[in-house]
Amino acid sequence: MAGSTSLLERFAAAVGDAHVLTDPELTLGYGTPWAAREGVAPLAVVRPADAGEAAAVLALCAERGQAVVPQGGNTGLVRGAAPGAGDVVLSTGRMGAIEAVDPVGLGVVVGAGVSLEELQARLEPEGLELALDIGARGQATLGGMAATNAGGARAFRHGTMRAHVSGIEAVLADGGRIERLGGVVKDATGYDWPSLLVGSEGTLAVITRLLLRLRRVERSRAAALVAVGSMAEALALAVALRDRPAGLEAAEFVLPGALRLVSEELGLRPPPGAGPDRVLALFETRAAAGAHDLLVDALAVAPAAAEAVVVEGADTADLWRYREGLGEALTQVDPLLKLDLSLPLANLAAGLAAIERAAREGQGGDAVEPFLFGHLLDGNVHVNLGGVAPGRVAAVTAAILDAVLHHGGSIGAEHGVGRAKAEWLERDRGGAEIAAMKRLKAALDPAGILNPGVLLPAP
Ligand SMILES: Cc1cc2nc3c(=O)[nH]c(=O)nc-3n(C[C@H](O)[C@H](O)[C@H](O)COP(=O)(O)OP(=O)(O)OC[C@H]3O[C@@H](n4cnc5c(N)ncnc54)[C@H](O)[C@@H]3O)c2cc1C
Repeated sequence: MAGSTSLLERFAAAVGDAHVLTDPELTLGYGTPWAAREGVAPLAVVRPADAGEAAAVLALCAERGQAVVPQGGNTGLVRGAAPGAGDVVLSTGRMGAIEAVDPVGLGVVVGAGVSLEELQARLEPEGLELALDIGARGQATLGGMAATNAGGARAFRHGTMRAHVSGIEAVLADGGRIERLGGVVKDATGYDWPSLLVGSEGTLAVITRLLLRLRRVERSRAAALVAVGSMAEALALAVALRDRPAGLEAAEFVLPGALRLVSEELGLRPPPGAGPDRVLALFETRAAAGAHDLLVDALAVAPAAAEAVVVEGADTADLWRYREGLGEALTQVDPLLKLDLSLPLANLAAGLAAIERAAREGQGGDAVEPFLFGHLLDGNVHVNLGGVAPGRVAAVTAAILDAVLHHGGSIGAEHGVGRAKAEWLERDRGGAEIAAMKRLKAALDPAGILNPGVLLPAP
């Protein structure tokens, strides 16, 4: 304890007294994952203002072998930012600067603690945007989004976070600093830090600033809701829209259980044509002008879309409630088993059926309540299950993840691996890859202080 007291004093000397929190009333929130009913108060929460202060904190932790959990908005869904009682949380909350926007190079440097919504508000008047959006935009930070390689609805067109990070500043476990924020498009000078650190979930370095790629906003927007007879039909419709000049930006699906839940919990009227055997598809198009007509024309070639509801401008938000409202609606389901997976498009329909079967088998033949939805054109499925018996969670999870691997999918699509799926990673990536990852981790973080137990199971 004497050791930890002086560590805390040294943290305070590095970042200022006010930015080292130890009172459990203040720290418990940092130790409570999103929507969790319980959490753990960490040893301390340290809030460095910049890379220099973060370097000092990490150097102290390395000296003591002190485990550090980097944390942004704490909206992650795989317990990657969840500390143990003896851990130090390094919060990026004070790294909140948005530096000058570069309208020529189409880039902006942001602090890791800036939320996506703050950046969106800053860019909007300039007619620019980051072409990636996620439901947790109000609280999720750009540093956390880079660390988890966040995806969202627009990823099938513009890529996941990896495609949007062109430069990075980060602090390594020993306090060493990487700074590559120059913004040249062509830079073939060796190992590429953004490629390595994006998706590393706080296990290799703490990201402190990012250079993000921007694009001009297309202001005309339209959205359509269509109920179709099967997943295969929904996917065929999405592909038809994608392959026409319709400016398709999002293609989402909601299966009947999830639609019933969101309609009931948010008091929404079920859309026309929806029913227990129908799949709800939501499409959004964007263009410099005339997105509504583009969408109507594109839908006209698809007979399945005869009953589509098409709206434009601000009204698109009403249609998105059926999809984005699910986050809120699911907080009412307890217990809830959540898994974020992806399937190759060729196996999407078969893989979804296999997931539902696997859930029932894992439960020993008894029914579960499936609430399934996701992103049509990148095969990302959000599996949420109610009614899983507490003693069957591991069996249900195993059966579903096996089914996904059997169909050529990934066990971690856009939420990452975190602590929740670390023990599963080897089945997805294989022994040789895991061995290489461990060597990489050991080279950059020899004392293993950065997010132990995340991605790779704790030794
Ligand atoms: C309602 C809701 C909707 C969501 N929708 C989506 C969605 O559409 N798409 C999607 O991809 N995700 C979604 N998510 C998941 C979550 O928002 C993302 O994973 C997001 O990227 C996490 O950002 P954060 O700042 O909250 O990170 P945290 O939860 O704080 O941390 C997540 C991980 O990143 C690490 N980390 C955080 N900051 C840093 C840093 N600066 N340096 C190094 N490591 C760091 C942490 O250690 C942890 O492993 C959603 C979550 C919720 C609650």
